[in-house]
Amino acid sequence: MKTIYLDNNATTQVAAEVMEAMLPYFHDYYGNPSSMHSFGGQVGRRIREAHEQMAALLGASPDEIIFTSCGTESDNAAIRSALLTYPDRKHIVTSRVEHPAIRALCAHLATRGYRITEVPVDAEGRLDMEVYRRSLTSDTAIVSLMWANNETGVIFPIEKAAALAREKGILFHTDAVQAVGKVPIDLSRNSVNMLSLSGHKLHAPKGIGVLYVRRGTKFSPFMIGGHQEKGRRGGTENTPSIIGLGMAAELARQKMEDENVRVRRLRDRLENELLARVPSSRVNGDRVQRLPNTSNISFEFVEGEGILLLLDEFKICASSGSACTSGSLQPSHVLRAMGVPFTMAHGSIRFSLSIYNTDEEIDFVIEKVPPIIETLRSMSPYWKQGVGGQTCARNFPGAAEA
Ligand code: PLP
Repeated sequence: MKTIYLDNNATTQVAAEVMEAMLPYFHDYYGNPSSMHSFGGQVGRRIREAHEQMAALLGASPDEIIFTSCGTESDNAAIRSALLTYPDRKHIVTSRVEHPAIRALCAHLATRGYRITEVPVDAEGRLDMEVYRRSLTSDTAIVSLMWANNETGVIFPIEKAAALAREKGILFHTDAVQAVGKVPIDLSRNSVNMLSLSGHKLHAPKGIGVLYVRRGTKFSPFMIGGHQEKGRRGGTENTPSIIGLGMAAELARQKMEDENVRVRRLRDRLENELLARVPSSRVNGDRVQRLPNTSNISFEFVEGEGILLLLDEFKICASSGSACTSGSLQPSHVLRAMGVPFTMAHGSIRFSLSIYNTDEEIDFVIEKVPPIIETLRSMSPYWKQGVGGQTCARNFPGAAEA
């Protein structure tokens, strides 16, 4: 049985073209890009080319691109740089639905005397722009808002939010890890100061990322060491991965427009068929302002983990929106922030597609999911009672936190 991979917001397959571009730089061209000799110099040239390829995808200049080790490092570098640049400012504005790379960092900074405002979202996962506007103060060192949400795919109005921050003289960072390569981004036309992305969400390898820093934005490095990346990120470059990410950026630039139309069509077909075939199911998140590849669907009165286990028997890979961490069956912070009813949030599944998915795969998933939900519901006392979500929520473990 072939694996059907619908978990591309978790990580993606490295593109064949990317791997091919990388391979010579493991064994044949292993020189240090900083060396004076031409053996190393040729590697340095390829790294400069990767800066150009990435800049072209983002509408940036090559010298605004800093290669890092991952999205998490880029997020940390951006926030910490702002705090060093404005040592007198002790306030950070972010949202309730950020990835842990921002959320956990902010929680950590809160224990170090920083004040954090987490702007709420509505039931569709859309940012409350009024609260956002009011949260910007003269004490705010940086705003960090994600371009697109990893769980629901909901897209925030980043250009508008960045413009508001600029009006108030506040640095603006966006975690665009899920957006780059899926939606067009043109940094020459907005006020974003810093942007994070990650290679492994973009058909490049794991362990490589980018922090974009707009020319003129003061930057205090997080990794201090050698002069690599113009002194903004010390450490001998991860040469093959940088070259691979450059190639992935090039592929995304060439293919994004056409492929996104195809991916969106596959996603919409999957979503519409499942909603039609499975009663008491719904989509979480704004269905319009959303990444073309992501669908977060709740199946009421079933456990996400149960669905994933049964999907796995058919080698279908997806993710659930509730984490079984520490034994509590808590729905994710994203679904809770949106106020998704507990019995719905608990049975949420994220399907995230890529350019490599096919119509046949989607047909197979459409065929397999409804009987899986039926089987699980046949074992659920709540489903059998047929009572409404709110009544049942009180009987579910962990319902109080929902
Ligand atoms: N930000 C978002 C929105 C993500 O989805 C992820 C990864 O899932 C990250 C940051 C972290 O990226 P990395 O795995 O490269 O550290």
